[in-house]
Amino acid sequence: MPVSTGTTALGTATVDLAAIAHNLRVLSDVAGVGVLAVVKAGGYGHGALPVARTLVDAGAVGLGVAHVGEAVALREGGIAAPVTAWLHTPDTDFESAIAADVDVAVSSSRQLDAVVAAAARRGETASVTVKVDTGMNRGGVAAPEWPAFVEAFGRAHAAGAVRLHGAMAHLACGDEPENPANDEQAAGLRAAVDDLRRIGAQPELVHLANTPAALTRPDLAFDAVRPGIGVYGLNPVPRHSTADLIPAMTLRTQVSLVKQVSAGSGISYGHTYRAPADTVVAVIPVGYADGVPRLLSGRLRVRINGRDFTGVGRICMDQFVVDLGPDGGGVVEGDEVTLFGTGADGGPTAREWADLTDTIDYEIVTGIGPRIARVYTGGGA
Ligand SMILES: *Cc1c(COP(=O)(O)O)cnc(C)c1O
Repeated sequence: MPVSTGTTALGTATVDLAAIAHNLRVLSDVAGVGVLAVVKAGGYGHGALPVARTLVDAGAVGLGVAHVGEAVALREGGIAAPVTAWLHTPDTDFESAIAADVDVAVSSSRQLDAVVAAAARRGETASVTVKVDTGMNRGGVAAPEWPAFVEAFGRAHAAGAVRLHGAMAHLACGDEPENPANDEQAAGLRAAVDDLRRIGAQPELVHLANTPAALTRPDLAFDAVRPGIGVYGLNPVPRHSTADLIPAMTLRTQVSLVKQVSAGSGISYGHTYRAPADTVVAVIPVGYADGVPRLLSGRLRVRINGRDFTGVGRICMDQFVVDLGPDGGGVVEGDEVTLFGTGADGGPTAREWADLTDTIDYEIVTGIGPRIARVYTGGGA
């Protein structure tokens, strides 16, 4: 069932929902606690709603997103499980969050005040998670603001304006399991929870660990772990963990065009590549607008009929070219092309694209564009 923005998708991202459910169980088993699974940014490009339904069915204790709008969209899609949103601006519509029973993670007294005011307008109690900055120095209540925040929180809590759902912090160096910053950040979260308890506010769910920490530091798991990328089967710490995660997304297209090119001909913009000999090339109809990084020009491989072929010349907005060799490799127009997948068959992976372009596979999967149809297998969603 494609969830496409048009009827002319030339590429598909097939998402294996059974792999997503499997990965959730693996993360929970390794960490020894429940999972608050992160489905921000459209489920890391996999499609937030089908992924969210799968995760809730598979036993996730909650879902996490960045924006209130993302959380409300999950509710509108029928997700009844706890959803926490943690990134706001002064314009964020907290009333819509309270109306949808979305848990709002607050990072300052200003945000708390805005949530309290929204709760008063609605005549309801807001569900709140306290996000503590224990050393990431990004989101979360900053250390110098903490005492005043606790006081303000105590007043709002005593007045029934807020109910304390959770307490959270985010690790700066979770992908370095031995980094002492992880222990310092965990200690900071413990101290913050003690401060909240002291004013009579007991968080139901304390969470710190992202995917790399969930995989390597079960001692920092608190009540739940909060992985994103691992849910999608990508392992950010392969040197430290051999957990059996299955990449959920396979990106495919079809050969658009096959043609002969003579020796010495330049291929694609700028003629940065010239065919060293007479050869046959295939046009692959996805490009950087679809999430194939232009930096992969001349460096990516694709799988066609079980064989690898190399991209040549510049990757364009909508398409790129691969060299099929002088005999054309038996490839014909319409043949299926795998751009990346699980890698189980030795084929290309999102990780390989990330390594070749000096980034992380998070950026690869979240960058798959809106012209690519999301297709779901392996589940009821
Ligand atoms: C994105 C995010 C996560 C998930 O991180 P992964 O590295 O993908 O596991 C967890 N917590 C917060 C606050 C985040 O922003």
